[in-house]
Amino acid sequence: MNTCPHCRQAGIKSWEKRFSSRGNPATCTLCGGLSHVLSSAAGGTFVLTSILMMVAIFVGFLTNSWLAGLSGYLLAAAYNVWAWQRETLSPILKEHAQAANRANWAVATISVLISFLS
Ligand SMILES: [Zn+2]
Repeated sequence: MNTCPHCRQAGIKSWEKRFSSRGNPATCTLCGGLSHVLSSAAGGTFVLTSILMMVAIFVGFLTNSWLAGLSGYLLAAAYNVWAWQRETLSPILKEHAQAANRANWAVATISVLISFLS
């Protein structure tokens, strides 16, 4: 469970935090407040985890040892879990979340239209 930025109690499930975004925020089980992890922070974690995994593969090939590759992978996975636990949730209003969700849909619709037209 993660601390809710509204009621300051552990009301946010870990997987909800993980998949939260402005358009799809996590809901607190205690107060019903909405919150999300900043996409810049989530993106940074994703990039760093990917780099760590690539380094793990590289080291595995270089040393010709699956053990080195595997420990690198475990390190990357451990970093990812740790980074997600560190990530703080930002409170968001229901109206803002709905607006962000609509914006996401608008962008998705426009990109589909463009791909059809081009
Ligand atoms: Zn709450």
